[in-house]
Amino acid sequence: MAVLVTGGAGFIGSVTTERLLAAGEEVVVFDDFSTGHRDAIPREVRLFEGNTLDQSALRTVFREASIDTVLHFAAFIQVGESCQDPSKYFKNNVAGSQSVLDVMREMGVSYFVLSSTAAVYGNPETVPITEDAPCRPVNPYGLSKRMVEQILEWYDVAYGMRYVALRYFNAAGASIQRGEDHHPETHLIPNVLAAAVDSRKAVTVFGQDYDTPDGTCIRDYIHVEDLADAHVAAVRYLRKGGGSNAFNLGTENGVSVLEVIDSVRRVTGRELRVEYSGRRAGDAERLVASSEKARRILGWTPAKSDIDTIVRDAWEWRKKHPNGYAR
Ligand code: UDP
Repeated sequence: MAVLVTGGAGFIGSVTTERLLAAGEEVVVFDDFSTGHRDAIPREVRLFEGNTLDQSALRTVFREASIDTVLHFAAFIQVGESCQDPSKYFKNNVAGSQSVLDVMREMGVSYFVLSSTAAVYGNPETVPITEDAPCRPVNPYGLSKRMVEQILEWYDVAYGMRYVALRYFNAAGASIQRGEDHHPETHLIPNVLAAAVDSRKAVTVFGQDYDTPDGTCIRDYIHVEDLADAHVAAVRYLRKGGGSNAFNLGTENGVSVLEVIDSVRRVTGRELRVEYSGRRAGDAERLVASSEKARRILGWTPAKSDIDTIVRDAWEWRKKHPNGYAR
């Protein structure tokens, strides 16, 4: 049976596709290329082009390939944009997901893995964050993912759909062939690497007055290949009869913005120009995962997620693709 990856042309979707193939899975990709890259899709996969709201395009995929599990990555991911244009996020991320789920029901497919996010927690009261912490998203992006998780809870009860929601902390790094290429790029590590490539560019640090040891925000960075391997583990878990569940994917290790910048200096050996500006709206002070549950139930252990390995792999990819994927 094949696995369907929606959003397989994106950063995490394409690396997961690569790891699924390496694990011996047959993979089918569905993507509308609104943000993804054709060159990110491994050649061995069957590609269907379409939008998740287009149910007839989705039906064609399920008719032409024998699919037992859907890994649903296709979504918009920019927090700031979601605050300015929530409609775009609820349509694509919520209605798009429901559209996929309803075609799955029609076609009798019942295993679903959701790309969820630490943003479902909002500003957590305690860190490290466990999965039973209250979900109080503070922006439409985080809410859109939480709404899909809630839809899934009811699709399990009513239709027997089995799902795994994977709540990613800060995805970063690269595989040898696939890396991060967003437009615009808002994430810290690619922005610091851009300043390492081009000495005319400065890194902007958003806020240095947080209640943290060096005053900058703390995040839990997770190597994209470790994230991808958690998806492979989730597929196996569902096929073995595992019940619907949500898991945090992080390392339990918090790294500050200034520590990321230091790591980039160490790994690249380049000088970096750093500028300071005020806080960025919507940033939580400290987001660190408890990953005990994923370790215990999925048997998943992050293997490449120390900050220097993440930065080194992202740097290697960046040097080979200074302008990202070919356009
Ligand atoms: N950040 C920064 N400069 C940048 C991009 C990000 O100082 O150019 C900070 C941001 O304010 C946050 C952290 O780096 O504290 C991680 O931000 P990112 O956008 O990578 O991930 P997020 O945690 O927002 O999903």
